[in-house]
Amino acid sequence: MALLEVKELKAYYKTEMYGISRIVRAIDEVSLDLQPNEIYGVAGESSCGKTTLIKVLSGTIKPPLKIYEGSVNYQFKHGNVDMAKVSNEELQKNVRWKEISYVMQGSMSVLNPVRKIIKTFEDIISTHEGISNHKEFVERIKDHVKKLGLPPDVLYSYPHELSGGMRQRVAIAMATVFHPSLIIADEPTTALDVVVQRGVLQLLKEIQAESKNTVLLVTHDMAVHANVADRVGIMYAGRLMEEAPSEIIFKRPRHPYTRHLISSLPVIGDKSGKSSLEGTPPNLANPPEGCRFHPRCPVAEEACKTKVPAMRDLGGGHRAACHLIQGAQQ
Ligand code: SF4
Repeated sequence: MALLEVKELKAYYKTEMYGISRIVRAIDEVSLDLQPNEIYGVAGESSCGKTTLIKVLSGTIKPPLKIYEGSVNYQFKHGNVDMAKVSNEELQKNVRWKEISYVMQGSMSVLNPVRKIIKTFEDIISTHEGISNHKEFVERIKDHVKKLGLPPDVLYSYPHELSGGMRQRVAIAMATVFHPSLIIADEPTTALDVVVQRGVLQLLKEIQAESKNTVLLVTHDMAVHANVADRVGIMYAGRLMEEAPSEIIFKRPRHPYTRHLISSLPVIGDKSGKSSLEGTPPNLANPPEGCRFHPRCPVAEEACKTKVPAMRDLGGGHRAACHLIQGAQQ
């Protein structure tokens, strides 16, 4: 049974200024599922809808963002949660941190700069569970960070005393303290150098393998997905363009946009220049008709300008939305 089922989701930002209303179609007709015990990667350029997808899946939907159509259903240990209907109280009491936790880019945003790390752990645990015995709480947190390969001394440091990689490890330790069903990792290694990045990704992989939970890894960096993700979904301009197990998507990408993303990955020894796509992603307040990728697609046809391509099942968990792929299947 899937941990999460997203069906035909439309999540838009609607603003009204001086009587003029503006709708930004940030997520449009996206359907996907997350299975227990997997790392699912979401890839795509800036403005492709990754951040909005995170907001919806993590239950941080605030006006002007609203779910207009579709459903977002979780099957947690304590019961089902429908993100379109769940109350803030329920999210606070049973979902945030306990079932869904979040590792964001730049750990300083989650760590309080004027509180030692142990105090931030204390804030989190006392808010969501309560602390009846302080000594037991300290032992529990020391055990937890030790299991993640962090020295317990780190708990008595201020965030600014730690390196960027160590801070990100601490943020991961906080996100996993309640052993949540889903960890959403949003560009978790973007600000780190390559060596530190490898260590942080390895830690995420080890935690997932040990606890068999689900990780939603959101990053524009296809090399990170190639190293870590079990399945990858490619987003462009608010729509899911292709989805497949990693080995398929990296060896046999079908969608022209995915092919571009993968062909731009560096290959050791290859000194030839990489071609870039013409143009920029569209304004989602006024997205192009038909396939949203058509103004930049090198193989676009006339029909692409008017007809939205349907998501086609290609077998083996591989799906793609492109008129040419549909043609090849017939
Ligand atoms: Fe390109 Fe057309 Fe396929 Fe869109 S539907 S990716 S424009 S060929």
